[in-house]
Amino acid sequence: MRSGNLGYPRIGKGREWKKALELYWAGKLEEETFQAEMKAIRLRNLKTQQERGIDVIPVGDFTYYDHVLDTAAMFGLVPERFQYEGGVPSLAVYYAMARGSREATACEMTKWFNTNYHYIVPELDNISPVLTHNRLLDAYREAKAELNIEGRPVLVGPYTFLKLSKGYAPEQLAVWIDRLLPLYGQVLRELEAEGVQWVQIDEPILATTLASEELDHVARIYDRLTKEAPGIKLQLQTYFEAVDHYEAVVSLPVHGIGLDFVHDGGRNLQALGKYGFPEDKVLGAGVIDGRGIWRADLQDKLDLLAVIGQAVSADRLIVQPSNSLLHVPVSAAQEGALAPVLREALAFADEKLEELALLTKAARSGAEAVASELAASKRSREALQQSPARSRKEVHARIADLASQPSSRAGDLEVRREVQQKRWNLPLLPTTTIGSFPQTPEVRSARLKWRKGEWSESQYEAFIKDQIKIWIDVQSELGLDVFVHGEFERNDMVEFFGEKLDGFAFTANGWVQSYGSRCVKPPIIYGDVEFTSPMTVAETVYAQSLTATPVKGMLTGPVTILNWSFVRDDKPREEVAYQIALALRDELEALEAAGIGMIQVDEPAIREGLPLKREQWPHYLDWAVRAFRVSTSTVKNETQIHTHMCYCEFHDMIDSIRAMDADVISIETSRSHGELIESFEEHTYDKGIGLGVYDIHSPRVPSVEEMASMIDRALRVLSPEQFWINPDCGLKTRKYEETVASLRNMVQATLQAREKY
Ligand code: GLN
Ligand code: ZN
Repeated sequence: MRSGNLGYPRIGKGREWKKALELYWAGKLEEETFQAEMKAIRLRNLKTQQERGIDVIPVGDFTYYDHVLDTAAMFGLVPERFQYEGGVPSLAVYYAMARGSREATACEMTKWFNTNYHYIVPELDNISPVLTHNRLLDAYREAKAELNIEGRPVLVGPYTFLKLSKGYAPEQLAVWIDRLLPLYGQVLRELEAEGVQWVQIDEPILATTLASEELDHVARIYDRLTKEAPGIKLQLQTYFEAVDHYEAVVSLPVHGIGLDFVHDGGRNLQALGKYGFPEDKVLGAGVIDGRGIWRADLQDKLDLLAVIGQAVSADRLIVQPSNSLLHVPVSAAQEGALAPVLREALAFADEKLEELALLTKAARSGAEAVASELAASKRSREALQQSPARSRKEVHARIADLASQPSSRAGDLEVRREVQQKRWNLPLLPTTTIGSFPQTPEVRSARLKWRKGEWSESQYEAFIKDQIKIWIDVQSELGLDVFVHGEFERNDMVEFFGEKLDGFAFTANGWVQSYGSRCVKPPIIYGDVEFTSPMTVAETVYAQSLTATPVKGMLTGPVTILNWSFVRDDKPREEVAYQIALALRDELEALEAAGIGMIQVDEPAIREGLPLKREQWPHYLDWAVRAFRVSTSTVKNETQIHTHMCYCEFHDMIDSIRAMDADVISIETSRSHGELIESFEEHTYDKGIGLGVYDIHSPRVPSVEEMASMIDRALRVLSPEQFWINPDCGLKTRKYEETVASLRNMVQATLQAREKY
């Protein structure tokens, strides 16, 4: 039995990867220095895996931004607007695709399966793919030359790649497969010539719901690829769920299959028991949770491996994480500041590698060889389970009584609309923003000083008030109709609330890549969640005191808090969602009592919690919507509830979005190039709605005309009486000048539209 890994976090222990990228983008690092820094990080990552005793180490999983973008760039799939002239795409072209440039809008970015990682969506329109460079060959050679590692190159598989791409009609899929296969073949042949033995080819799409005809495409792909480079062994890797068509997948003509035995709801194991596993294949057994942060119950895992071992002999088994460790932080060893009972229960990437090595050792030499480690893992899990943080009586009582907690507003939509319109008297096409304004270096350094104790509480408060005042003035001057306070006091929309609620803990360095250089540090929900005191009232009330224009209160919703946290694994997720929902309800009531009449409860992450398997959607959506409603249902009819979502493909969850019953919703639109708007041709929506009129992920200032045409397009399918005008998302990542200039154009476009409609 061997231990293996599928991918390692790119970002480095101290996020040095992010820092290097951002310095390079800012023109503060020469390309040569930047490349040297990338190499150093890449090698450190490999070395860590080597030192932990991992037998199968992935290479080529490292990236300069995103692994899907890497694959597109390797195949020369660069859209025309980037004026690429062939050859190896330059860093400038590569980053323009990811982030946009002055001349060209960025490619769309969307969530990687059901994670909070975002990949760049390849656009295939009118491009003929060519192999521009074999990035895996480079990665393989480097690992071998520098560290004497016989790495296993990782490649996004053709079927997953094409299914995640856009710019071709569904009936062109087979044509595209034929275009890409020779290039994949060439990559593999070059690796073969170099002496590479195994290649990991990731096909997570096989863990989604697929029609059985699709398996024919997959079979054709792997038939061809194994023939292209007969000397290479392909390890076909799936993750995030059970494979749907187990028998078909395991009989594909590859040399190994990787299965997730953690997030599969037990179905992979069942299938393994029922149908067995081919005797000529290696099984990559994903038994260590590659997405959660809890130490494994090692005895449990050994038992699992024993069951798996009944179907697959040890020499054909690789013990591995359920998926790439890209989705967990680097090392828990840096978390000395956490309470020991919690710290002891954590396992990040490096600790997971240790667990893999331990399991492998136990399997090779018997459990006695690791008896003390087994006992320690059991002890640490039990200690957390028995801690007072998991026995909050009030919380348990409220949850037990959930059926009698309100989850519907008093008045229906019509009634609410009338009293709200009377109260606010908003113009046609009201303008607003999504909540945050630029988190400038000044804002961040103020927070740092306060956190370090260099600034007193009152000094920091005064600073935040100044910022709020500056931006209330800016919003007045711009002539927006509904203001926000700007979220200057918030580091992050989840962490901020987690710090004020009971049941959460925060790591010092538990960063995970979200998109590009952007990392998030998810809070850890380790105990029962409880409201302690108002969290947002002071800033919101202060902002409102400066103006007669309504200021929206700004909260993060229960489902987003849940989905963007690392969640305890001893309770169903829905129960944790209800705990959060009840705590937030207390905050909404406090805001209302303080005179705030519009409250936005953001749920940008509701969609990413969707299970990969369609048949599990209804159950998830049911409790997710209910959790939102538990938070927002006790306010008066005249209080206007807003919500906001990002990257939302609207059409397949429109019923749930309606069921959330928010008076107004704002949704990101422009980065999916207006596709969302089209979905309203088929679906009706009768509440207030703002479809973002400009992309906030790019520094580009959109023109009045561009936004006016976005508004026109939206108003072909939605009525002016229900339509709101806003940017796609919060503006925290933008600079002051860009923000003001863009919003000025947005207001201008609105004024023009008001004349027309
Ligand atoms: N209110 C938040 C903000 O403006 C929403 C962020 C988000 O949707 N991700 O920053
Ligand atoms: Zn958003």
